[in-house]
This record gives sequence, C-alpha cells and structure tokens, in this order.
Amino acid sequence: MILFTCLFGLDRGKGKGKVRQLDLERALTARDRVGVQDMVLLDAHNSETAFLDNLKKRFSEDLIYTYIGTLLISVNPYKELDIYSKRHMDIYMVVNFYELPPHIYALADNAYQTMLAESNNHFILISGESGAGKTEATKKILQYYAVSCPSSSLLNSVRDQMLMSNPILEAFGNAKTLKNDNSSRFGKYMDIQFDCQGDAVGGHILSYLLEKSRVVHQNHGERNFHIFYQLLDGGDEDLLRQLGLGRDTQHYNYLLQGECAKVSSINDRNDWKSVKNALLVMHFELSDIELIGVHVQVLTEALTYRKIEARADEVLCPFTVDHAIYARDALAKAIYGRTFTWLVNRINESLENQDSTRKTVIGLLDIYGFEVFSVNSFEQFCINYCNEKLQQLFIQLTLKAEQEEYEAEGIEWEPVQFFNNKIICDMVEEKHRGIISDEECLMPGDATDLTFLEKMEKKMGNHPHFITQKLADKKTRRTLERGDFRLLHYAGEVTYCVVGFIDKNNDLLYRHLKEVMKQSKNSIMQQCFSSDEVDSRRRPETVATQFKNSLQGLAEILMAKQAWYVRCLKSNDSKQSGRFDDMLVRHQVKYLGLMEHLRVRRAGFAYRKRYEDFLKRYKPLCPDTWPHWRGVPAEGVERLVQHLGYQPDEYTMGRTKIFIRYARTLFATEDAYELCK
Ligand code: ADP
Ligand code: MG
Repeated sequence: MILFTCLFGLDRGKGKGKVRQLDLERALTARDRVGVQDMVLLDAHNSETAFLDNLKKRFSEDLIYTYIGTLLISVNPYKELDIYSKRHMDIYMVVNFYELPPHIYALADNAYQTMLAESNNHFILISGESGAGKTEATKKILQYYAVSCPSSSLLNSVRDQMLMSNPILEAFGNAKTLKNDNSSRFGKYMDIQFDCQGDAVGGHILSYLLEKSRVVHQNHGERNFHIFYQLLDGGDEDLLRQLGLGRDTQHYNYLLQGECAKVSSINDRNDWKSVKNALLVMHFELSDIELIGVHVQVLTEALTYRKIEARADEVLCPFTVDHAIYARDALAKAIYGRTFTWLVNRINESLENQDSTRKTVIGLLDIYGFEVFSVNSFEQFCINYCNEKLQQLFIQLTLKAEQEEYEAEGIEWEPVQFFNNKIICDMVEEKHRGIISDEECLMPGDATDLTFLEKMEKKMGNHPHFITQKLADKKTRRTLERGDFRLLHYAGEVTYCVVGFIDKNNDLLYRHLKEVMKQSKNSIMQQCFSSDEVDSRRRPETVATQFKNSLQGLAEILMAKQAWYVRCLKSNDSKQSGRFDDMLVRHQVKYLGLMEHLRVRRAGFAYRKRYEDFLKRYKPLCPDTWPHWRGVPAEGVERLVQHLGYQPDEYTMGRTKIFIRYARTLFATEDAYELCK
C-alpha cells in the first residue's frame, strides 16, 4: 500500500520543500458532497449503486457532467444552468481535460486540440434516448466551436451559417412527441471542417431517415413538424393569404390529430421569426421580390401538398375513398420528405468550402435515441435498429482503441467480456434471412403484414432475440397479440406492431402523381421529382434497405475517425427539473453499457496519462521535480511516483504514458495535489 504524501504534501505557494499537515478530512467531505468527477476514481469497483449514487450526488449539486475517462456523461437538468456563457467557454479553452470540472466544452476542446496537434479527423457521438439532451449537447458543441475557434472576419459568415442551419432543420425536422417537446425526427451527422490554423471554414450535413409519416398522422399528444404551426401562428396576413391558409390549426386534418397544437414550452410565433431570419442568413434566394423572401417560397413548397391534394383527388376519381386518402397521404409524405432533402442540400451548398487546401474535420452525430412507446411501429423499428448499429460501432471502437493503446504502449492486458449485440444486427440485416429483406416486402400482389410476419416466424423461429405470439409460449411466459413481434434489443425488449410495415417500407407513390409533380411550375418540386426517377422502370429499394445502406456508409465514415462520446441520460420522464428517477437512470446506465465501459477502462489500468502531462500537474508534489524537471519526462515521472510511495503493482510505465492500475492511487495523488495548491 502506498504510504502517502497526502499526509505531508509540499506547499507550492509557500516555498519548495515545506511540509505541512494536510486536512485530509476536508477533501473527503467535499468529495462526499459532490461525488467524484471521473467514475474511474470511484472506490467501489464495479458497483452500479456507487455509480448511480455518484451521478445523483452530482446532479443534486447541478453538476450534470461526469467522466468515465474521456467519455462524458450528461444528465438532463431540465433547467437553464449558468455554465454555458462566453466566460465558461474561455475558461475551458486550451486547458487540460482533467484540470477543470467535467464539461461539454472540455470534451469539445479536447477533440479540437487533439485534431490540431495530430492533424487527424474526429467525431463526437452523442447518444441517449429521446429527450435525454442530445440535440442540446450538439448545439452547445457547435456554439463552442463557433465562438471559441480563432476567427478571421471573412469566415464569420460560415460560422453564422453553421449556427443558423440548426433552427431551420429543427423547424422542418423536429416535432413535439410524448417524450420531448422538441424531438428530432431525423438523424443528423454534421462535419465541421477546419483549416490548419484551426479556423472553422466549412461544413457538411448528412440527414438520416426523416419520420415522414408524421406529416399525415400524429398520435395523441403529439404534433406535426414545428414549421406548420410556426407558419400559421407567425406568418403575416399577406403571406397566409397568398398561400390560401387560415390561422386556425383546427381547420387542418394533418395538424389536429394529436389534439395539442399549442404547447406551453413552445412559442411558435417567435420561432417563426428565428427561422425566417435564419433562412435569410443562409442566403435563400429571393426569387420574387413581391414575395417577402424565399423562405416563403420554401414554406410554400412544404405546404404545397394542400393544393395538390385536390389534384390528387381528381386524378384518383375512380378509386375508392381509402385509395384516394392513401394516395393523398403518400404524396404529402413524398413532397415533405423530398423538400427536406432539398433543404439539406441547399444548406450544404451554403456551407461548402471551395478552397482545396487540406482540412481536418470534427463530425457531430446527433441521431434519434432508442425509442419505446406503448405501440411501436416501423419507425421505431428503424430507429432502434440504428441504435443497435451504433452500439456495435461503439463496442468495436472502444475495445479496439483500448487494445491498440496497450499494444502501442507495449503493455499486456486481459480483454473484458462485453455483451456483443452483433447477433441482433445480423438478425435484422442478414442477407435473405434477416428482417430487412427486400424480397418479402416487395413481393407484388398478395404480401400483407401478416404474411410478412409468418415468413419471419419461419425464418427466425429459433432466434434467441425474436419472439411472436406463436413462439411466445416456448420462449417466454408473457403473452403477445397476433400481429405483434418482439425483439430483444441490447437496450431492452420492444414489441412491434406489424400493421403498416409493408406499406411504410415500400413507400410507394403512384407514378401518375410523380408525373403531376414533375410538371410543377415550382423549381424546387421539379428538382425533387426528377425525370430520371419518373421515367425509370427500376424497382426502388425499400426504406429499410436504403436506411441499412446509409447506416453502413455512416459506420465507414466514423470508423476512419477518432471517437469521442457523450452519453446523455434522462433524469426523469416528466421533464421536471431537480428530479432524479433512480430506476430510470439505472436502466439507461445499464443499456448504454456504461458499467462495461468503466470496466474496460479499469481492466488492467484505470487511468493513464502522458508523462509530460503527469509531470506538469503533479510536479509540486516532489522536491526533485519542482519547480522544473529538466530530464527525460519518463524519468521525472518515475522519480515523482517513487517519492509518492507508489508500489510496483500500482503502476506501469508505457512508451509515452504512465498507466495507473487502481483508482485509489490516482485519487490519493489528486487529493495531495488539491491540498497543496
Ligand atoms: P434529445 O435530442 O436527446 O431528444 P433534447 O436535446 O431535445 O433531447 O433535450 C430535450 C429538452 O431537455 C430540451 O428541450 C431542454 O428543455 C432540456 N435540456 C436538454 N439538455 C439540457 C441542458 N444541458 N440544460 C438545460 N436543459 C436541457
Ligand atoms: Mg434531438
């Protein structure tokens, strides 16, 4: 055991070598109150309870951020905290990661500084369930880069545009759901490009699977996309008259199904102003100066389906009412979905950096979190599958990164066992056998949701993660309705209702409707419905297959970059500030694999630090290294830890870093440091 300098640290301020009795109790009391800022420093190994206690303690002190090594945990406070000011940004700039309380800015800065030092690419994966704070975290990171990176006035427009892309995409892509009043209904990956000076010079956005079905249907307590309500509430009289719209949402079948057009936390009128302003900053063209601006044009397009409905009805006269409704809805979804894609492309044109000098990037991934409602449909299936893929990526990257680090440093270690969710990803996507297999869905004629389910039962009856009513008795005592299937996701069980799967997956739009749209006088619609597509006789890919491919592409983008993680946790289900629901947080800690991550960090060695950094921080603790160590850093560190009384089993020296096995060792060192400051 180490006999520790804790008890007689050196007082940096009052002269080298001066020994003083330290008030160990004071440090321990402070830690008792606010917890430890890095889970790696927790005394109780592998204890989920200690882990949760620590989060809760910190949460009650408004300390919402905690590390596991370099991974940042964020617990949604549901209240404004005064920790995001310019002053805070300045404090966190270029400061060593562990020297200040955990913060999203510290992580953003660390990624940025590493990118500059090593000229390589990075990404920050922000995950957590709906309402946990992913989108807020993404915005904070973006703001940090926009405000803190060095600036040249020329480039300010790029920054403004990067920031302004947010309110636009949120207006068109976010909606009130039961879980979150501002829920992102699309996945977003945004690259921020930096030149070699570290200036933000450009950006690029990829969007994933917008939940189009919301345009035509909303569950009780939910809304359509924000933009519709913003327009009706905030748009001025002339504009609404031009568009043939009235202010009352009750007149619109597409807007009233959730019966909650007004939401207390949302000010649609003000949001409309912000969106309008953002569209101007993004240089949306003024195609017709009698119009107020092109933003109007864009919105007109988003809403054009109202006019088209009539046309669709005419065309569909011979069909039944159901068919006509189906066609109208399909068209509305297609127009909205394609306009959204057009909007993202248009924003990308504004953000594009033309010069060809070498750039490095930091990518921000804010993608819908794992979702379980009382009724789960095709949308939840896609979202949860996406989360499986990201978890798979996380497993590969963390294990891989850890293993590579030990190898690079020449250190032996025992790998930690994980639940590997590859089996679930394979179940969904395996060629010809998985749930996403085009042949089932695209079978012409008689394929129905139920025949699709039966085929799945045949194919996957023996799969440990797949259950239906027929199979339920064998595998579980819990009953299922006919027409439901249950998947055992890594994050928990979800029961899906198969009704609507085939339709939503095929996402068919009658050809003649495409033709009508192609002839539209509106140039955006012309771009959205190209001749190529209308003329093509090729069978389109299903939604799930397209999504699978785009996620595969995303995984490739991410694998080539250095990863940083923000794990967002929901503190409670009622959006209340100050409430920490133990059960809810425990569940998230479990399925986000945070304990496993902690175990990996601890396996072998809980903590590592570059020799230079270790010396820089702890040199006041040893007369040989204070105030300067002029020799080889590794030797200075060796001298320092000898002086501190580290035992041989407590640490090992790698090529560039010291690896410390036990949290308590570092803990004691930290205490000594704190007390001699
Ligand atoms: P997600 O994107 O994970 O679904 P959001 O980022 O939209 O969740 O967060 C949901 C809501 O929680 C926000 O609208 C905001 O009210 C609150 N919230 C999230 N993060 C923070 C934070 N860091 N500080 C204060 N409130 C937050
Ligand atoms: Mg979001």
